[in-house]
Amino acid sequence: MSQESLFERSKELVPGGVHSPVRSFKGLESTPRFVKEADGAYFTDVDGKNYIDFCMSFGPLILGHKNKEVQAKLVEALDRGWSYGACEPYSLDLAEFLLERLPFVDQLRFVNSGTEAVMTALRLARGATGKNKIIKFNGCYHGHVDAMLIKAGSGLAGEAEASSGGVPEGVAKDTLILELGDLDGVKACFKDHKNEIAAIIVEPLPANNGLLIQDQSFLEGLREITKENDALLIFDEVISGFRVAFGGMAEKTGITPDIVTYGKIIGGGLPVGAIAAKKSIMQNLAPVGSVYQAGTLSANPLAMVGGLETLSKLTKSAYQTLEENTLKAASIFKKFLKEYDDGKFSNYNVITHSSLFWIVPGEKIKCANGIPGNIGVDFTPLFELLLKKGIYLAPNAYEVGFMSLAHDDKVLADLEKRLWS
Ligand code: PMP
Repeated sequence: MSQESLFERSKELVPGGVHSPVRSFKGLESTPRFVKEADGAYFTDVDGKNYIDFCMSFGPLILGHKNKEVQAKLVEALDRGWSYGACEPYSLDLAEFLLERLPFVDQLRFVNSGTEAVMTALRLARGATGKNKIIKFNGCYHGHVDAMLIKAGSGLAGEAEASSGGVPEGVAKDTLILELGDLDGVKACFKDHKNEIAAIIVEPLPANNGLLIQDQSFLEGLREITKENDALLIFDEVISGFRVAFGGMAEKTGITPDIVTYGKIIGGGLPVGAIAAKKSIMQNLAPVGSVYQAGTLSANPLAMVGGLETLSKLTKSAYQTLEENTLKAASIFKKFLKEYDDGKFSNYNVITHSSLFWIVPGEKIKCANGIPGNIGVDFTPLFELLLKKGIYLAPNAYEVGFMSLAHDDKVLADLEKRLWS
């Protein structure tokens, strides 16, 4: 069956034909690629065409697709059964491995996704502080938690409204939306809502609405203001955790958040998320504390060994290689964008951080308001051209590109060849 007919079939079965909206190719000319199989830096669609994959499952696959050692561990684990709903040693191995390497937290709990981690982190912050309001920043994504599907309202600074149907007003009123970089706004918000704010949640490296690299001073400011106001600072490191460094932005910036949320790489491509914090905060979670949280498939044994094998390969030199290869990929893309078809795409730039990149017509964009308004429309011809050349970016102008350790010099030479073919 061709991609088009699979998509037609899928649309009958599933809303919009997809199980997550960002897969839908909305606003693009092509229909979604249906992946048949994947290996290393490549995937092959059901029509037999292969692509260099710069989406990499939106981040979890930092080793590339189908890493042989991870595969072997998964096969071994399959032989032991794949869900117990009871205690097992495999999650201890992963928890111990993580906590030894993340000195800013004492305990963690595994869940099944980034969204679940954020949902629990918010409840935990509210339970631990006895306050209800949460500050979130415009342009940061924290999963499809009701309280995070909120956008800035038209009234006073900080006031907000739901950005999705089905989110009650009562939920929206406890989320305060501010602009990234606006420390004065944060201070004013704490003044206006004295003793009401439980936490600030931030992607310390916002990478869901482009790549909005923040100043160290902004993140430090958030740390200071939350301390002064007895509020908690939540770093949502679902993308940045284990990607910018093993300890994510907390390690890179030296800033200690109160609660950290993880997802993506922590499970190496299997469904895992985690909430981590100091013991004094984590002890608020059930069954010890009053903040309820649970999960039938949490700490699934297959996901635990997949995560551990993936994470154990992330040495200092692996991060160096990732960053070097990202810079190489960016310069290959930049040259192409500058020179292709008499400079048709010469307004584009490639912004990088660690092993992430963002192809965008602009430079040093630090907040959502700074993103050019028409990037969605402009992105279509570039995306379609790259797709034809067998180069797969995430199908949306606001998504970043993800590099993996499989994107080595050989793949980069292939990228160059494909771009100019
Ligand atoms: N937080 C951040 C920073 C994310 O990038 C994402 C996913 N893109 C989430 C939360 C939600 O994670 P998941 O899709 O695993 O639910």
